[in-house]
Amino acid sequence: MSYVNRIIANTIEKTPGEFEFHQAVTEVLPTLKVVLDKNPRFEAAGILERLVVPERCFVFRVPWLDDDGKTRVNVGYRVQFNSAIGPYKGGLRFHPKVSLGEIKFLGFEQTFKNSLTSLPLGGGKGGADFDPKGKSDNEVMKFCQSFMTELGKYLGATIDVPAGDIGVGAREIGYMYGQYKRINDTFEGVLTGKGLTYGGSLGRTEATGYGLLYFVNEMLQRAGKSLEGQIVTISGSGNVSIFACEKAREYGAKVVTMSDSGGFIYDADGIDLDAVKEIKLVKRGRIKDYLQYRPNAQYTEGKRVWGVPCHIALPCATQNELDENDAKELVKNGCYAVAEGANMPSSNEAIEVFLANGVLFGPAKAANAGGVATSGLEMTQNAMHTSWTRDEVDKQLHRIMVNIYAQAAGAAEEYGAKGNFVAGANIAGFLKVANAMLEQGVV
Ligand code: NDP
Repeated sequence: MSYVNRIIANTIEKTPGEFEFHQAVTEVLPTLKVVLDKNPRFEAAGILERLVVPERCFVFRVPWLDDDGKTRVNVGYRVQFNSAIGPYKGGLRFHPKVSLGEIKFLGFEQTFKNSLTSLPLGGGKGGADFDPKGKSDNEVMKFCQSFMTELGKYLGATIDVPAGDIGVGAREIGYMYGQYKRINDTFEGVLTGKGLTYGGSLGRTEATGYGLLYFVNEMLQRAGKSLEGQIVTISGSGNVSIFACEKAREYGAKVVTMSDSGGFIYDADGIDLDAVKEIKLVKRGRIKDYLQYRPNAQYTEGKRVWGVPCHIALPCATQNELDENDAKELVKNGCYAVAEGANMPSSNEAIEVFLANGVLFGPAKAANAGGVATSGLEMTQNAMHTSWTRDEVDKQLHRIMVNIYAQAAGAAEEYGAKGNFVAGANIAGFLKVANAMLEQGVV
């Protein structure tokens, strides 16, 4: 059995039930075979064996009192995956389905993604099976305080710096930061995505969505195409989706769909983003409320957006939201570019369909790295006790995304997979981490 297949088989055997983690490992490792064959030092030093096992995982109880005085208990997680190139960095996800396998897949991916940003950031991820939906502000605060009371023991500005993810936005980051500061009596940049009044960076909120479009723009331009006048479908209506939509429109594209876990809206005239922002960011409502603003739009309950014809598709909601059949449908309807705003939104079979049909495909670890990159910029500003202008941050974000495209495209070409940015991003992300691990010895 080859080195890669042996590590995949062993990982699956040793981590039963961690399906998303198996999926991520099965996607990444085969693309590294060509590099491993060329550099036997990696196998000799057990680099893959070490890469697929987190440095440590914390699983902890999060007890809190709801508004009726009833005791509630959730399970919290932090996976410190790899610190070869910097302190652990990666978001916190609050969603009822969160499990150790999900957090491990995210932390594994994050290690390669952070490497691609060219910033000194290791890989980590965390969260809890807590659902902020339908909770009062007071309940969210109580939960966040209890969560941070335990998590805070393992954090530090040069140790581990979490950020937001699904279900964790400015409100949750604020409550967690307040609790960390209260317990530790220190004002350090231990979370990113902070509010602007207490160490946050201008441009962080928009960064993942904007960065996604900077990547897409670069990918299209290099293929002699442009976003101008193109029909774009976006899934989700959270942080990533909203700012992806905003930047796509700035580039002259027409976004016609957005969604949430209830269903999707289709607006042939182009999404009214002010309406979506009011529904989602102000009222914390459901996407079907969009019909109150635009009665001519359509709402489809319980379905995904991928049947809507488009030139460019941007999955920005969650993992495995786009399967093989969705991919075939997109290709049949003339979609020629897909870029992942969410983490692992496309199944491995869907990715194969895209690559086999010559679709320009931007994988998550490259295309959505703008969020963590700007978190890295927030850490730099905190360490320097300064704050940069929005324009300065945005310029750096743009430069980083163009550079990520160049790394993915360059590595793909160098290793005989021209145009395959999945392989290219994996290889480029891997090489930096693997070389750092080699130089640091067996640790
Ligand atoms: P948000 O919580 O702001 O939004 C998530 C959106 O996805 C919501 O519209 C939500 O709908 C929808 N969604 C979540 N779970 C499901 C599901 N199981 N089925 C259908 N729809 C679902 O999260 P973000 O926008 O921050 O994150 C979205 C994706 O982007 C995630 O994969 C995340 O890991 C990734 N990402 C985020 C970054 C960031 O900076 N925030 C950085 C890099 C990647 P509903 O409200 O109904 O649940």
